[in-house]
Amino acid sequence: VACLRRAYLEFHSPELAKPLTVAEQERMRAGVEVGRLARKMFEGVLIEQPSTDMMLAASDTRHAIAGGAGAVFEAAFLTEMAAVRVDILERLPSGNWHIIEVKSSKEPKDEYLSDVAFQRIALTDAGFEVERCSLLLISDGFVFKGNPIDPREFFVMNDVSEVTGLMAEQVRSQIGRHISAVREPEPPEVVPNVHCKRDGECPFLRHCWSGLPLHDVTTLPLVRAEIVHEMHERGTRDIAMIPSSAKLSARQRLIAGVVRSGVSFVSPDLEGILAAVKYPVHFIDFEASTSAIPSHAGIAPYRHVPFQWSDHVLESDGVVRHLEFLHREKSDPRGEFARTLIEALQGAGTVAFYSSYEKSILRGLAKDGTPFAQESLDLIEQKGLDLEKVVREHVYLPDFMGRTSIKKVYPALVQGEGYRGLAIQDGETAAAEYKRMFSSATTPYQAQAIASDLLQYCERDTLAMVEVFRALCEIAKHPSSPAD
Ligand code: SF4
Repeated sequence: VACLRRAYLEFHSPELAKPLTVAEQERMRAGVEVGRLARKMFEGVLIEQPSTDMMLAASDTRHAIAGGAGAVFEAAFLTEMAAVRVDILERLPSGNWHIIEVKSSKEPKDEYLSDVAFQRIALTDAGFEVERCSLLLISDGFVFKGNPIDPREFFVMNDVSEVTGLMAEQVRSQIGRHISAVREPEPPEVVPNVHCKRDGECPFLRHCWSGLPLHDVTTLPLVRAEIVHEMHERGTRDIAMIPSSAKLSARQRLIAGVVRSGVSFVSPDLEGILAAVKYPVHFIDFEASTSAIPSHAGIAPYRHVPFQWSDHVLESDGVVRHLEFLHREKSDPRGEFARTLIEALQGAGTVAFYSSYEKSILRGLAKDGTPFAQESLDLIEQKGLDLEKVVREHVYLPDFMGRTSIKKVYPALVQGEGYRGLAIQDGETAAAEYKRMFSSATTPYQAQAIASDLLQYCERDTLAMVEVFRALCEIAKHPSSPAD
């Protein structure tokens, strides 16, 4: 953890952290599954004691090592400076040790290297001779052929001995800073800035950001940390107060102008773009799941596998009808998904979607050779309308808060029900819930309830698109600009 305030809060006030979302819990569960698969590459002893009892876990680790274990899984070490767990600690023929950090990722990241460097320091301090350090990552070329998976095909060992050796001093001084911060009576003052959202949102965001203005400068897309810092120093972080000398992109400048003047940006081109739409307009949305360990043959790790679509069809007379598909069986959903979708899209004048996600899903299916996927993709290429692109290029309202996602745009443009009252509120949760539908711990009754929640969520997404489209048609009649 780079932020000293976060280190302090994690130690002293963990109750202030945002609870894990369903999607985060699912990622953790997947990480455990990947860890289990990695252990199959070694003969070893698993330390079962949880990290809440590090004394006992460290004692069990010492016994396993003294007993001659060739590898220790979840090895625990307590030193004056640190308490660490090592995913796999392998005893090398030389008698020295090999630290292996297992990650359910295909790409090495800096934070993984810091983790390994941290473990290396702790083990060295505990008197172990660390000869090698590795990151065990998912192989980029792996495609699931069915169970059982050979872990030697699934993983790739990346030697990071040299780089973690070079990082040792830097990581050691960082640990020292963290220890000093944690020993202070109060949490360190850290200016909330873009670092709080880098690599995922900090769980203490709500706590640290509670006093910030509604139009805080960090809501500007891709705002530079220096600008935020400068405004913080001046005592005002409101976008409306941003100095004219600040170096902003054209988009940031537009947003600042809208917030300062209260005048929305509605491009004079919007009306023409919407008038060119051909009816019936199909508003489509997909839900897809992704797994480190794929569930069906022919799928690579983290490939998005669509399992659901929703389609609201708007006729030229204003009548709306709804079509939908949800794959309710444990089998591979791709074939039925693509077949039912192309059927639904027959006769479409325009196919509207929100962001490039739907196209990328179809591109993936077409690449896999899924029948009918290429046809749907061709149809969308010919008749597609990316509603988010239209919004991004032609509309900005103060309540967009720097974003163009449907979740932000909808309430700013429409006085409707939106996503209120839904058990599922975002795509990541939908994907996690879909997996839960087929878990052995889920009863048929619960599975039925999840299916109903999924249908409601996806339906609401495409209905929101229809309502946003209608609202855009209305505001397009009155172009405006903060510069007017
Ligand atoms: S929200 Fe930002 S300042 Fe607060 S603990 Fe997290 S990273 Fe640090």
